[in-house]
Amino acid sequence: MDRKEYKVPSKDYALQYSPLLGELIPEIERVIREENPVLGASVDAFEKEFAAYTGTADAVGLGSGTDALYLSLRALGARPGTEVITAANTFIATVSSILLSGARPVLADPDPETMNLTPGAVEAAITPRTVAVIPVHLYGALAPVGEILRVCERSDIDMVEDAAQAHGARGPDSRGAGAYGRMGCFSFHPSKNLGAFGDAGMVTTSDMRDADEIRLIRNLGKSSKYEVTRVAPNTKLDTIQAAILRLKLRNLDAWNDRRISLAALYRDALADVGDLILPHFPGDRAHVYHLFVVRTSRRDELRAHLQSAGVNAGLHYPVPPHLQSLDVDLGYREGDFPVTEECARTVLSLPISPELKDHQVAYVCEQIRSFFGE
Ligand SMILES: *Cc1c(COP(=O)(O)O)cnc(C)c1O
Repeated sequence: MDRKEYKVPSKDYALQYSPLLGELIPEIERVIREENPVLGASVDAFEKEFAAYTGTADAVGLGSGTDALYLSLRALGARPGTEVITAANTFIATVSSILLSGARPVLADPDPETMNLTPGAVEAAITPRTVAVIPVHLYGALAPVGEILRVCERSDIDMVEDAAQAHGARGPDSRGAGAYGRMGCFSFHPSKNLGAFGDAGMVTTSDMRDADEIRLIRNLGKSSKYEVTRVAPNTKLDTIQAAILRLKLRNLDAWNDRRISLAALYRDALADVGDLILPHFPGDRAHVYHLFVVRTSRRDELRAHLQSAGVNAGLHYPVPPHLQSLDVDLGYREGDFPVTEECARTVLSLPISPELKDHQVAYVCEQIRSFFGE
């Protein structure tokens, strides 16, 4: 089924952009007439605006969220012989970025209710080789960063946040996801809460030495026009993407609010339906619902039922990193992470993009209730 044919699509970029085009097209024209295509003024402006939005002193624009993680790990000293702890149920990019740095990924099962890493699991995974922990704010819900940071400080290791799904999620002290760790890593993949029209990413940090190092290693390690001091990738945020992101950043809070109210509609209509487990509910803005992930033992049947009713429900993620056939051996096997493996069999992401109408969510809920015979 083509995206346009769904009664309830999981996303619709044309619909998302249509109210923005009146402003966006002239802005893109201005950028093309006035700015450098590479590291133009819009990149610098967006870095400052996104840092301020998140609550950090600086931010560095990159080519993707994966590169944000990879460059952060390199900057803090991850390399062969070191270990980095992260959640076993994360998106593959978190694990790939650790492998790209040369470090060994040490995975830990998440809490079965929040689906996020816990301070206890982090503490149990620390060894003398551990240099960093990456809590992932999975599905848009802030991980317990305060407690994990205390564990890190006791063992003198760094915390790097994978905030790729959590732009604008805020803790009780109202700092943003990405402002708690030594670095915060964001993706602006089009599907994220804040998305570019293509790939893009960002590292947020309040340590100016880290910001300088990441600016060096996003640009081939060039310390000046003709001098190079690092072997490094070329992964800078494009000027055009920065211009698009600047404009969209102004809508992010409103879009997140819309996600939060759609989540409330789902919650009301789906309480006590079949064996459905609803996502945990931290309240306030600690969850920005990048995804609304329910769990059921009848996941595949329910997904097929929704598909035939014109509802596009996704899977995040059906194959966890430790069960992928990678070209390196992670050293884990089936059974090592029971919570992660159970989630891989039961998770189902219901459509929750901000463009959805209330009646579309009501329709999805009706379909789910009738599937369970309610
Ligand atoms: C999207 C995502 C990434 C990677 O971001 P890209 O921009 O696609 O490279 C990393 N971690 C998580 C949790 C993500 O959802």
